[in-house]
Amino acid sequence: ACLELAAGQYVLETSVFPREPQQLKELRDLTATHPRAMMATAPDAAQLMGLLIKLIDAKKTIEVGVFTGYSLLLTALSIPHDGKITAIDMSRESYEIGLPVIQKAGVEHKIEFVESEALPALDFVRQEGNEGSYDFAYVDADKVNYWNYHERLMKLVRVGGIIAYDNTLWGGTVAIPPDSVAGSHRGGTEATIQFNKSLAADPRVDISLTPLGDGITICRRIY
Ligand code: SAH
Ligand code: CA
Repeated sequence: ACLELAAGQYVLETSVFPREPQQLKELRDLTATHPRAMMATAPDAAQLMGLLIKLIDAKKTIEVGVFTGYSLLLTALSIPHDGKITAIDMSRESYEIGLPVIQKAGVEHKIEFVESEALPALDFVRQEGNEGSYDFAYVDADKVNYWNYHERLMKLVRVGGIIAYDNTLWGGTVAIPPDSVAGSHRGGTEATIQFNKSLAADPRVDISLTPLGDGITICRRIY
């Protein structure tokens, strides 16, 4: 485990931080003092996301769980000038912490921020005629709803498009005996274990659970 930690730090120092756009670093530094800074997307996982977005030439994306906007800014910097992001979070307050950095980066025009509970927002987006129209989706919100988000995003993301889920290792607690998981973590652990199992059994997607950051699962819609 010690070697793995060292390797993770090596990855950050050797290939992530030297390539992290300056505005993203600024947003990360700005968020570092926030009491819930742990929730932000890890820079190594975000780097993979940016690469995937470019690999599939994603233009229209959707994000569930914005917080101060690290993954949102990463996405905005990775899609073309005329790309569009639907960004959903029930709290506008944290979004506004990072907004000045997003504005300074010149990418705010790509973002439509939706202040809402995610499930009704996703249903609304679908009713608006967006079925099969998104190239890329990123989910980083309440873990207990991940499968509900998956069912909806499978309708919104096109065949061949990508859905990425953050925190699918939940601090590594998915891999240890249930009684050694701290009580406060258990709800998230159980939800994540169940979600990972369900995804592995879902024939509609290709998957890869990559152990970057807190674990990020990449899904590609097959049909
Ligand atoms: N992707 C962000 C981190 C998101 S943290 C980053 O890279 O920094 C999780 C976010 O999900 C929080 O901002 C929280 O307000 C939001 N959230 C949690 N449950 C939600 C729900 N049911 N509907 C909408 N947003 C939710
Ligand atoms: Ca996260």
